[in-house]
Amino acid sequence: MNERMLRELELAEVAGIYEGGRQQAAGGREDHLAEAPGEVPAARHLPSAASSLDWPSLRSAVSACTACGLCRGRKQAVFGVGAEQGPWLFVGEGPGADEDEQGEPFVGQAGKLLDSMLAAAGLARGRDTYIANVVKCRPPGNRTPTLDEAAACAAFLDRQIDLVDPKVIVALGKTAATRVLGAEPASLGSLRGKVHQYRGRPVVVTYHPAYLLRNLPDKSKAWEDLLLARRVFAGRHG
Ligand code: URA
Repeated sequence: MNERMLRELELAEVAGIYEGGRQQAAGGREDHLAEAPGEVPAARHLPSAASSLDWPSLRSAVSACTACGLCRGRKQAVFGVGAEQGPWLFVGEGPGADEDEQGEPFVGQAGKLLDSMLAAAGLARGRDTYIANVVKCRPPGNRTPTLDEAAACAAFLDRQIDLVDPKVIVALGKTAATRVLGAEPASLGSLRGKVHQYRGRPVVVTYHPAYLLRNLPDKSKAWEDLLLARRVFAGRHG
């Protein structure tokens, strides 16, 4: 099977996954997903149909997604990892080179720090913690994803949140906080120390591990944030 055939198969699969939402969004019109292999289709509404997908279908939809230009530079989409039943959910920004290579969030240096932070809080990826990113494809040169890219991927993260149904969401860094809270903060610091809400779940904001690697003294603030998240989890906040 050549690359073109594979691509057509992939698109047929996505078309199947999205059929219901596509017809709804198009008011019954027949839309075309992509004109030619290699082109990014104009169908940016596609991920909105993610809201009814189960884990395997959601994973397939993410790996086939071409809703924004980031798909052109990825080796693979990076879905999410960990305990699908939560009860903890950590949200990062987007895959870097290591994650793009390995297909798992937070496997590079920042990931090592995140794992130690989890361990210090008595948590572990896979045991009681799910880890997802705002965008599932690596932004070129590890730049910050744009608001448009975050919006194109939003339905995927929202569906992950609904499926995990976490007791607490921890937003790692400004991109995650902006996406989850729906507004760009003046500074990350202004969001710390408070309990926010997203889709009916409490959200605690802390520094991104990559930032902490460059600003080691702020690790103690991240620890305070994790303690707050633990209090929220235990129902001992406010
Ligand atoms: N940074 C993130 O925000 N997510 C990753 O998966 C890796 C690094």
